[in-house]
Amino acid sequence: MREDKRFLLNLMKSNGVLKSLLAIHAFEKVAREDFVLPEYKKRAYDDIPLPIMAGQTISQPSTVAIMTELLGVREGHKIFEVGTGSGYQAAILSEIIGKSGKVITTEIVPEVFEFGKKNIEKYRNVEAIFLDGSKGHEKEAPYDRIIITAAAPEIPEILKKQLKVGGKMVAPVGAGLMQKMTLIERVSEKEYKTTYHGAFMFVPMRGDDEKV
Ligand code: SAH
Repeated sequence: MREDKRFLLNLMKSNGVLKSLLAIHAFEKVAREDFVLPEYKKRAYDDIPLPIMAGQTISQPSTVAIMTELLGVREGHKIFEVGTGSGYQAAILSEIIGKSGKVITTEIVPEVFEFGKKNIEKYRNVEAIFLDGSKGHEKEAPYDRIIITAAAPEIPEILKKQLKVGGKMVAPVGAGLMQKMTLIERVSEKEYKTTYHGAFMFVPMRGDDEKV
């Protein structure tokens, strides 16, 4: 393993953002350098977001770890992601869910979609779709887990409806500069439990109708 990768993983384990064996294993397996632009490969294991294209970014490794742990992903889960970006988060989820699971990841910026789709080609249980993910994807619903990796002013109701009872959704919520990391658990057909887990900065979620 690259020395800087080992260092980053040890750092994330020691400061408690990376905890579960399944997630640790996924971070060990996925090569972040395969998800950044060539000029940033040397910095792939710095704990920072890096620019990709069209003003978008690959998320900071610690943020990916925190969201992955909050989501409580298990083998066999079907997961819906809003914001493929580089594809790195989808690759981490793919390793955890294994062959019996599926990640459906969506991206709204054409050139970012092409980049992310290519990066995750070898992850056979991931399907990348060019789609406004804020509107959900009824065809594959309901989902065990939903993850939004762009700042949402509020959680779209349609996504809450596409969550299984007992399912979980993680999203950075807020219209300002900072967002609250939000965990929503669907307790029953009608009840959702919401908890908050710190402040983060994400690029905004966008939509065709600009209402999101
Ligand atoms: N998960 C990514 C980080 C994504 S950054 C990674 O691991 O690298 C957020 C991404 O969400 C951007 O690429 C942005 O274009 C995309 N996005 C914003 N609004 C969206 C929407 N409504 N549907 C799908 N993707 C969206």
